[in-house]
Amino acid sequence: MRPEVLFPLFASVTSLPKIGPRLAKLVEKVAGPNVVDLLWHLPASVVDRRFAPPVAEAPSGAVATFTVRVAQHLPSGHPRRPYKVLCEDDSGTLSLVYFHPRPEYLNRILPLGETRVVSGKVERYDLELQMTHPDYVATVEEAASLPAIEPVYPLTQGLTPRPLARALEAALERAPTLDEWIEPSYLAANRWPAWRDALRQAHAPDGLAALEPSAPARQRLAFDELLANQLALGLVRAHMRRAKGRAIASERRLMDKIIAALPFALTDSQRQAIDEIATDMASMSRMLRLLQGDVGSGKTVVGLAAMAIAVEAGAQAVFMAPTEILARQHMDTIGPMAEAAGLRCALLTGRDKGKPREALLADLAAGDIDILIGTHAVFQRGVEFHDLALAVIDEQHKFGVHQRLDLQAKGRAVDALVMTATPIPRSLMLTAYGDMDASRLTDKPPGRLPIKTVVLPLSRIGDVVAAVGRAVADGDRVYWVCPLVEESEVLDLAAAEDRFAALKEIFPDRVGLAHGRMKGPERDRVMAAFAAGDLSILVATTVIEVGVDVSAATVMVIEHAERFGLAQLHQLRGRVGRGARPSSCLLLYAGPLGEAARARLNIMRETDDGFRIAEEDLRLRGAGELLGTRQSGMPDFRLADLAVHGELLAAARDDVKMILERDANLTGPRGAALKTLLYLFERDAAVSYLRSG
Ligand code: ADP
Ligand code: MG
Repeated sequence: MRPEVLFPLFASVTSLPKIGPRLAKLVEKVAGPNVVDLLWHLPASVVDRRFAPPVAEAPSGAVATFTVRVAQHLPSGHPRRPYKVLCEDDSGTLSLVYFHPRPEYLNRILPLGETRVVSGKVERYDLELQMTHPDYVATVEEAASLPAIEPVYPLTQGLTPRPLARALEAALERAPTLDEWIEPSYLAANRWPAWRDALRQAHAPDGLAALEPSAPARQRLAFDELLANQLALGLVRAHMRRAKGRAIASERRLMDKIIAALPFALTDSQRQAIDEIATDMASMSRMLRLLQGDVGSGKTVVGLAAMAIAVEAGAQAVFMAPTEILARQHMDTIGPMAEAAGLRCALLTGRDKGKPREALLADLAAGDIDILIGTHAVFQRGVEFHDLALAVIDEQHKFGVHQRLDLQAKGRAVDALVMTATPIPRSLMLTAYGDMDASRLTDKPPGRLPIKTVVLPLSRIGDVVAAVGRAVADGDRVYWVCPLVEESEVLDLAAAEDRFAALKEIFPDRVGLAHGRMKGPERDRVMAAFAAGDLSILVATTVIEVGVDVSAATVMVIEHAERFGLAQLHQLRGRVGRGARPSSCLLLYAGPLGEAARARLNIMRETDDGFRIAEEDLRLRGAGELLGTRQSGMPDFRLADLAVHGELLAAARDDVKMILERDANLTGPRGAALKTLLYLFERDAAVSYLRSG
C-alpha cells in the first residue's frame, strides 16, 4: 500500500487550487494526470529578467525589463489591428502591443502619465521597439517582487506559462519532507540536497547552469529515478530467484532432430546461445535470459531449440509474439519444423473464439499440445497449461516486465527466454532488465548479402520510382514506408494514402497499403498478398516495423527518413536482405537536415552493425533529438538522461546490489525510505515482491 505521506502527490491535478477541468486537461497533456507528474515537469530553460537596458539599446529578440512612463494609448479601431500603448524612458519609445484587449483593463494597468515596470520579449521593427503582450506590467513597488530569473517550462497548445506556474507552485507546496533513501555518505560526497530541497531547486533555477544534468539538484533527482528503477528490477529478480526453479534436462535428442532437419547449419553464435540456454534450463534456478540479435540473425531457431528441450523433458512451452501477424508467421515457420520432429503445435490469438478456442484450451490443459504459439492472448484467464516449463517471448520491447511475470505465473517455475531484435546498449539494458543474463547473436547466417544503403533528397523521388519499377519488373518485392508525423496517426495515414494513390497510378494492381488503423484481418490480407507476390509494392506506415518476414523483398524505401529514429531505421532496413538477391535501402530525406538527423543518416550509410547503431542512437538521442524513442519501448525516464547519467546508473545498480544483500526485504529504516521511493516512482508492483509484502 502506498504510504500515506505520498497521498497528496497521487491526487489528480484537479485537486490543486484553481485548476479546473480545462486547465487540468492541458496540464495532464504536458506533465501527467497526478500532482507528482507536475513535480517531475522540470524547466527546460530560464528567462533572465535582470537585463534592463535603456529602451534605445534593447536588442531585438531579447527578454528585457524596462522602467517607463506611459505616454499614450492608441486604441486599434479595427478588430484585426492591435491596441498599442506607447511608453518611454529618457532614451526612446517602446510600444506595448495587445491583440483583442479589454481597453478598460489596459487603462487600469497602464494609466497615462504613470511609471510602470514592464518585462517581456522585445522585437524591433524599423525604428519601433515593440513588446507584444508583456509578461509583466507592474508598479515600481510591485516590481521589487518580480522574479529575477524565471523558469521556462515545456508547454502545449493552449497552455500559457502563468497558469502552469501556479499549478506547479501548488504542487511543490504539496511535496512532503521524506526520509532520506540515499546512503548518507554518498549523498554527502555528492553534495546533493535532500529530496524536497532538490525539487525546489530544480524548479527555481538561478541560471542556465542549474538546468544542466550535472547540477546537483538535477543529479539527485535523476539518481532517485534510477535507484527506483534498479531497485524495482532487483526485487523482481530476487523474487524470481527465490522462487524454486526446476531442472529441465534433456539429452537434446528432440532438439538435434529438429536441427538436423534444417536446411542450413547453425552459426557459431546460435550454437553458443543454445548451449547457454540449455545450461540455464538444466539448473535449479529459474532462467531469465535475453537473446539479442539483429533482425535476421536467426533467433527463432534458437527459441525453437529451447522449446524442444522443454518438450523432451515432458513439459510444455509457449512462444509469444507481439502481434497477430507475427504469431501467425511463427506458426508457419516453427510449426512444420517442430511437427516434423513429432511436436504438437497450436496457435492462439485474440481472434480465436468459441468452440475451437475451447477445444484448443482443453488440449492444452490435457497436455496434448506441446508448443503454444500466440499473442498476449496466451496470458488470458482460462488459458491453463498442463505443465508449462518455458516461455519464449519474441520482440520483448513490446511487452512490459509485468506481462512476462504474468506468464511465468502460469507454470511452476517457468523459465523465460526473451528475444529482442533491438540491440540494446549496456546502460539501457540495465534499466530495462536489470542485471539480466544475455546471449548475443553476433554473426549473421552465412550467405547474406550486404544491403546497399543510399541516402537521397526527396527531390529525386523520380529516380526512386524508376528504380522501384526495375525491381518490380524483375519480380522483386518493395516496401515503401511513409513518413512518421509526430503524434498524429491521422497525418501518418494521409501521407501513406497519398503515396499509395500516386504509386497505384504508375503500377496499377501491384500496390497495397497497410497501416495501423486498418482492422487486423484486412491488414493481414494485404500483407499476405504482398508475401505471396500478388502485390509487388507495400506502402506502409510503421506497422511493418516488427518482424514481418518476406524474403523476396529486396527494396526498402523510407520516405522522410530524417524523421525516424536510428533504431527504427535499422529495424526497417532489416526487413530486406533476407533472401538470396542483393537488396537496397533508399533513405529519402527532406532538407534542410538538422545535425542529429544528418548524423543518423550517415550512420545508416556507414554500418549495419546493430550494436554499434544502438550505441550511436543513445549518444545522439542524448543530443536532444527524441523523436522515435517512444517506439523503442525502453523505460521513459523523466529525470534521468541515460546519455549523460550513465555513471549514476552504475552507482544505482551497485547500490541496489548492496541494499539487497544487507536488507533484502527493506525492513530496516533505510528500507522503509526506499519503499517510499518505489511508490514515489510508481513501482508499486515491485514492492509486492518483498517477502513481507
Ligand atoms: P530473427 O532473428 O530476425 O528472428 P529469424 O529467426 O526469423 O531471424 O531468421 C531469419 C531467417 O534466417 C529465417 O529465414 C531463418 O530460417 C534463416 N536462418 C536462421 N538461422 C540460419 C542459419 N544458421 N543459416 C542460414 N539461415 C538461417
Ligand atoms: Mg524474429
